[in-house]
Amino acid sequence: MALEIEGLKVDNVKPKLELDSPGGVNSDFELPVSSSHFLLSNFEVRFSRCGCAEEGDTMSTTMQKTIRLAERMSRLGTETAFEVLVRARALEAQGREIVHLEIGEPDFATPANIVEAAVRALRDGWTHYGPSAGLPQLREAAAEYTAKHSGIPVDASEVVITPGGKPIMFFVILALAERGDEVLYPNPGFPIYESMINFVGAQAVPYGLREDRRFDVDVEEILGKITDRTRLLILNSPQNPTGGVISREGLKALADKLAGREIAVLSDEIYHQLIYEGEHTSIAQFPGMKESTIILNGFSKTYAMTGWRMGWGVMRPDLAKWIAQLMTNCNSCTASFSQIAGVEALRGDQSSVGVMREEFRRRRSVIVEGLNRIPGFSCREPHGAFYVFPNIKQTKWTSGALADAILKEAGVACLSGTAFGAWGEGYLRFSFANSVENLQKALSWIGDWAKKRLS
Ligand code: PMP
Repeated sequence: MALEIEGLKVDNVKPKLELDSPGGVNSDFELPVSSSHFLLSNFEVRFSRCGCAEEGDTMSTTMQKTIRLAERMSRLGTETAFEVLVRARALEAQGREIVHLEIGEPDFATPANIVEAAVRALRDGWTHYGPSAGLPQLREAAAEYTAKHSGIPVDASEVVITPGGKPIMFFVILALAERGDEVLYPNPGFPIYESMINFVGAQAVPYGLREDRRFDVDVEEILGKITDRTRLLILNSPQNPTGGVISREGLKALADKLAGREIAVLSDEIYHQLIYEGEHTSIAQFPGMKESTIILNGFSKTYAMTGWRMGWGVMRPDLAKWIAQLMTNCNSCTASFSQIAGVEALRGDQSSVGVMREEFRRRRSVIVEGLNRIPGFSCREPHGAFYVFPNIKQTKWTSGALADAILKEAGVACLSGTAFGAWGEGYLRFSFANSVENLQKALSWIGDWAKKRLS
């Protein structure tokens, strides 16, 4: 059903609306996730986002003016992890103890050599604007790093530095896809892919990641979904939320078919250092693929630098110019002192990367074993990243209701599989970027809760 209030059309409103009289109305709107920010004149609106809003989550009271949002905003999605974090913090503010397994960030401190480099950079006056594409020394360091880890030659002119890896996703989709184009993306997958594809008005075409394939891609499925309108294929390996890794054979088979076609590939490799078996492979390594591949990478996961907001993309120089121009339009540049510290991260002592990976490996065993002891849960060992994606179908609960109850009743914040697309139903996502002690606490709380509520 669509709803029109004072010229504002909202699609997919579930008919849960009771309008009395303008000016003093209490209305329950169930708006689609993407339509959750509206200012409506003379209406009091209670927002219930994706069925997960708190009781009394009232967004606006009486407004005198209507501010009309552009139509495209109704197509903008979100990353639920940030919303669940807010809800978990609200419970903490009420005195509840919560274990945070919802947000995907290492709990480690940024390695000291990187912090020291940033402090020095601040003292040395790296506090001004820099070039939109990034400081030359960091572009060079990122080119070297990518060449070392992917085995492909990369020049600094092919690197654009951005505030986090996320803007590479945003800018590349903005630059390459438009109405009438089709973009293939993983489902379940990082939610921003689908959000951005819809936002730019392109057609989002999901491909599955299935547990029985250990969440590796089904190459035949992807190839079967390619049409004359396909402009972009998004790959993510290791994956968020499943922890799956795309096999070398799978990437090669895809590359064999894509090499001669004018389809760009956005290869999100932000977790490339977090692989627990075997080695990372980039699709850009295969013949004919480098010129059509954009590699997304960043500092957040590898160097525990989520709050620094630094990432980069590797792409052909003619595209790099446009992505840098989007940077000029949007951010001007990435923070200069962060970039100087980024050079230290990429070129300095790398021992902390291995230490963190080994600690994640230990935590992976703890959470997989613990979840498999909970009735109704079945959890495979992820090959990469720091997420587990247990199957909860045996509980007979929906993912959303289960994630909600585990937060409110067991005190453990996790995410519903559906936060990563409709095909995530039947699964939950837990981040194991938390201490073994906290993981054990969370597992024992969920176990106690399950004895009462799932039997
Ligand atoms: N890609 C994936 C798959 C991610 O999970 C994330 C962060 N959760 C990012 C990209 C972006 O990370 P950042 O912007 O912090 O570099």
